[in-house]
Amino acid sequence: MITDKIKHQIRSIVGPENALDSDLDRFGYSYDSSYVPLRPENRPDLVVRPLTAREVSSVMALASEHEIPVTPRGAASGRTGGSIPLRGGISLCLDRMTRIVELDEGNMMVTAEAGVRTIDLYNHCAAKGLFFPPDPASWKFSTIGGNVAENAGGMRAVKYGVTSNYVMGLEVVLADGTILKTGGKALKNVTGYDLKSLFTGSEGTLGIITQALLRLIPMPKKRGTLQVMFGSLEEGCATVHRMLQAAIVPAAAEIMDRFSLEAVAKYRGTSLDPTAQACLIMEIDGESDEALASQARQIQAVAEGCGALAFRVAQSQQESDELWAARRGLSSAVASLAPTRLGEDISVPRDAFPEVVRRIRVISEKYGLPIAVYGHAGDGNIHPSILCDLGNPEQEKRIHGAVDEIFAAALAVGGTLSGEHGIGITKQPYITQALGDAGIKTLIAVKKALDPKGILNPGKIW
Ligand SMILES: Cc1cc2nc3c(=O)[nH]c(=O)nc-3n(C[C@H](O)[C@H](O)[C@H](O)COP(=O)(O)OP(=O)(O)OC[C@H]3O[C@@H](n4cnc5c(N)ncnc54)[C@H](O)[C@@H]3O)c2cc1C
Repeated sequence: MITDKIKHQIRSIVGPENALDSDLDRFGYSYDSSYVPLRPENRPDLVVRPLTAREVSSVMALASEHEIPVTPRGAASGRTGGSIPLRGGISLCLDRMTRIVELDEGNMMVTAEAGVRTIDLYNHCAAKGLFFPPDPASWKFSTIGGNVAENAGGMRAVKYGVTSNYVMGLEVVLADGTILKTGGKALKNVTGYDLKSLFTGSEGTLGIITQALLRLIPMPKKRGTLQVMFGSLEEGCATVHRMLQAAIVPAAAEIMDRFSLEAVAKYRGTSLDPTAQACLIMEIDGESDEALASQARQIQAVAEGCGALAFRVAQSQQESDELWAARRGLSSAVASLAPTRLGEDISVPRDAFPEVVRRIRVISEKYGLPIAVYGHAGDGNIHPSILCDLGNPEQEKRIHGAVDEIFAAALAVGGTLSGEHGIGITKQPYITQALGDAGIKTLIAVKKALDPKGILNPGKIW
């Protein structure tokens, strides 16, 4: 419970206009982009929007003293309920911390505050010929703090990796208000535990990330887009597999099944080859037009060897944008087919992709629920989308059954519950199955060491 006196103290730290407690504000911070239903008990008592790490520190010191739960929040684009305050208290929103503190061109690193939008960071660096590769599809609104807290991935992960591959250092405010700086610009650093990696992907349960030092790479000079149609999903997967084995690494390799293709065609009013069962959209990049043309030829040879029906190289930026628009608009296209689209995010060893898709089709039949399958074929990250109606009690049991079996299918082939969206609330019931008792005990021991009063994002992960 936050007393008026504590509210007054917080207002004197962040300014009265940045500590909000109207019903409307509390409602606005009670949900995110997951399918966790709206509940009055998920409203924070106070929304706090600090501007500096010092302010975060002072707020955390107060929260610690009075054992007030604090739920960090970026843009609330999370898919697993991570920024929903389950125990009231403070919703600590970092959206005013939007300074890009330094672009160090010499060392190819950028320091940004937590609330900087991913796309703004990308553009800022791109203007100097530097490339920040992690590109979650939410990058127009997600924040760097949220990306680090979720270890966000994106389409370019197959070649360039995920957020953690770029985190060099962090400024983190700990549960008691201590400001910790960890990591730095030295490329090799084994001085003590690797704390920056511990906080990366910690979903706001171990500390408040206020600043990130991120590694950059030179921006590729040329980019191209390829589209390949297949008579089966297996052929598409085999193409990706063989390309990577032959050291041909596209920047992105996105696959869509027939159901997804139909959804896109319907949504965009386009026609679709009746024999096409799957489509691969790829981005290739390099230093010259010749290098791109050579990559495209190599990929065409592999795809045709795997039975591709059609191979297309985008001839203009407009054509490329159109091909990617189909992929980027896919979740909206699929979502338009049913009252609810339950988008999952399993990650499996790359060679198990077709097997898991086969199992998902069986699950779809068994529970009588359509499931669109698409994802990042290059890194085994599948996004099965269950089409259903969460408001229909008749479907509830079937939905749960289907979700349970999808996770079981991922774990059975050595995969995991989440490739990029984290655990949050929605995947909690499955985490012990994924990590085992020893894994959970270790997580809890780390949590207790860093947040002994349990005030940071309580009720998440396990
Ligand atoms: C349309 C759409 C497409 C998406 N595509 C992708 C994708 O391609 N790849 C991908 O990985 N994800 C994707 N996501 C999920 C989401 O955008 C990412 O997880 C993103 O990193 C969340 O950033 P955010 O700023 O919105 O964080 P929020 O949703 O606000 O928070 C996410 C979690 O991080 C914690 N957190 C936020 N900021 C901080 C901080 N400063 N310090 C400590 N903890 C913090 C929160 O407590 C919460 O647990 C998508 C979401 C949408 C809606």
